[in-house]
Amino acid sequence: MSFHDTEDSLQIGLHKDGRRLTPQRKRVLELFERIGSGVHLSAEDVHQQLVISQSKVSLATVYRSLRLLVEKGFLHQLELSEGGHRFELANDDHPDHHHLICVRCGRTEEFESESVLEAGRAAAENLGFQLIESSLKVRALCPKCQEKQSFT
Ligand SMILES: [Zn+2]
Ligand SMILES: [Zn+2]
Repeated sequence: MSFHDTEDSLQIGLHKDGRRLTPQRKRVLELFERIGSGVHLSAEDVHQQLVISQSKVSLATVYRSLRLLVEKGFLHQLELSEGGHRFELANDDHPDHHHLICVRCGRTEEFESESVLEAGRAAAENLGFQLIESSLKVRALCPKCQEKQSFT
């Protein structure tokens, strides 16, 4: 990919403010834009991907970039129960979805549920809150981790 191509994809892909980001942060955001919404990456995943694509960047820088991109609203942060985080592209076309998270390995799957959204709307309305988003986090064990568990 030439330098010019990279610039073009930034103009098209990044949100308006994206152009003011530092090169490292741009690379992190670009990675998320390339893989698209609905993919949940840990900081380690992001670091690994950047190293594969030959960007010299430390894990600490990746952490800092992710935090900033969350603050600026480019990425959503998802808390895992074990204190880890996953990150995904914040996308208006992909709002209000829910996550099924394996507490062992962190495997994260998305699902949609109109009844969860309805419950959120009703709760907010009853208490006079202005709704921003409703998302449900379900803690579970994935099939692989259930298998492992039965051997121990
Ligand atoms: Zn998601
Ligand atoms: Zn698992």
